[in-house]
Amino acid sequence: MSFTLHGLGVSGGIAIGVAHLISHATLEVAHLTISPRMVEKELARFDAALDQVRLELAAMKEGTEHAPAEFGAFLDLHRMILDDPELCEVPQQLIRERRCNAEWALVQQMEHLVRQFDDFDDPYLRERSHDVRQVVERVIKELAGHPGRTSMRSAKSVKEENLIVVAHDLSPADVIAFKEHRFASFITDVGGATSHTAIIARSMAVPAVLGLHNARELIRDKETLIVDGTRGVVIVNPDPRVLEEYQLRKSGLELERSKLKRIKTAKTTSLDGVDVNLLANIELPSDVPASLEGGAEGVGLFRSEFLFLDRGSLPSEDEQFEAYRKVVKGMDGRPVTIRTFDLGADKDLNPEGTLGDRVKTNPALGMRAIRVSLAEPQMFQTQLRAILRASKYGKVKLLIPMLAHAYEIDATLAAVEQAKSSLRGDKIGFDAAIEVGGMIEIPAAALAIGMFVRRLNFLSIGTNDLIQYTLAIDRGDEQVSHLYDPLHPAVLMLIAHTLHSGEKAGVPVSVCGELAGDANLTRLLLGMGLRNFSMHPAQILEVKSRVLKANIAELAPQVRKLLRLEEPAKIREALEKLNA
Ligand code: PEP
Ligand code: MG
Repeated sequence: MSFTLHGLGVSGGIAIGVAHLISHATLEVAHLTISPRMVEKELARFDAALDQVRLELAAMKEGTEHAPAEFGAFLDLHRMILDDPELCEVPQQLIRERRCNAEWALVQQMEHLVRQFDDFDDPYLRERSHDVRQVVERVIKELAGHPGRTSMRSAKSVKEENLIVVAHDLSPADVIAFKEHRFASFITDVGGATSHTAIIARSMAVPAVLGLHNARELIRDKETLIVDGTRGVVIVNPDPRVLEEYQLRKSGLELERSKLKRIKTAKTTSLDGVDVNLLANIELPSDVPASLEGGAEGVGLFRSEFLFLDRGSLPSEDEQFEAYRKVVKGMDGRPVTIRTFDLGADKDLNPEGTLGDRVKTNPALGMRAIRVSLAEPQMFQTQLRAILRASKYGKVKLLIPMLAHAYEIDATLAAVEQAKSSLRGDKIGFDAAIEVGGMIEIPAAALAIGMFVRRLNFLSIGTNDLIQYTLAIDRGDEQVSHLYDPLHPAVLMLIAHTLHSGEKAGVPVSVCGELAGDANLTRLLLGMGLRNFSMHPAQILEVKSRVLKANIAELAPQVRKLLRLEEPAKIREALEKLNA
């Protein structure tokens, strides 16, 4: 029987293949009462299982030297969870006091911990309960005498590239195994857009749908699946017509993608000879190869906070320096714009982290980004020194998130000077002429743009937040997502005003929000005067193809007319005409 499941499309594209169910140790364990003389033996069995899992994690860590840095961090996180007394000591007390089997004691304690995670407001922290479950699953497997990672080796009769992994949940360690395999796609019951699995799916560019709730239960091994990672749809046992339709769409997409590769080395110049810069947005040093593969002319936005979100503690200057230098060297002379931590809102460290007590009831309007950096001068100095040290190895630019007030800009520039003079005192080299720029992502900044262009070397419009703050729409709340409108006249006015003011003052302006990577908006943005676009590496070639076909001199007057419109339907109609 054919049926369709809807979830969260976290990595685009279409995959057609055969379901490959990944079996996990079940957490529904038996509750057994043991005799008093068996208690010590049960404790020893529990300890031996913990030791075995420690060895397993260590062995996996050794095998990750060529894997992206985040995999090592995931393994460290799992090791920390395993060593936490809440998980390795409390079950021992339960075994002693209640004379129960180790499996039951461990699962009881896990459920207690997971309930605490569920109470967190922050979705990122809530998702960490999956990490606790994954660690416990590993120990349970060990206790059951079936150690090791999730098996990827069944379904021998089917080629790997035709397999679609179906799992209740995938641990980062399981996903490491994907690097050695060539699965067509993966789908899971749980996991949000900020889960590790989602982050890795995007970095691997395979279609993926998460949050399907009960796919693992409903889908049977070897059933035919279609995964539409763009729409978040999974079709199980499609009928022949649907299958044919998706096969056509898939080949169409592949053909388009391979054609696009031909323009990778072409200069990004419009038909009327205007040069345009296409840059990459990255979260981790391991995103550098994909940026170069996509033809990026530099990094327009390095969201530095993603490097360390997992750790719950702030990184040292040396650790940061190494990460920044890796990106700078990897980009081989191309400019790299490093944004200082945009912590807060949905990107908080864990409660033990420095920000634990700073994020309050309305986090997007509270302590976030530069506000946090200025309130934590030591953290800010550490980061500024690390970025400045990396500037010796290539062209580094410094980008400051969420500025709104003149004194914030002045305090930031003073902090940069302080970091420079402390490095001079330590006789450590850096680029003394490093450019400092500001994100324009608060409407007040776009409106009072004069104080920005007078103080900063460049500006970068963060449309994701600019839209959120202009329209009072929480960008993470799906209940109001239909109101999140990039074409709202107020949003267009703010972007146009920023671009125009930057041009008049001779201060370069880029867009690094999601708008820059939307090929349907390329002609509009070009006509508005945008020349610097920064986006996910996978979007670069499509945007480039639009630039190559654009005659900006012809577009500009049409766009000026569009910007005078106020009715949403008229704006959409004018955009369609512009793209025709
Ligand atoms: C933005 O707000 O548009 C932006 C690029 O920054 P982030 O998405 O990291 O908030
Ligand atoms: Mg932002």
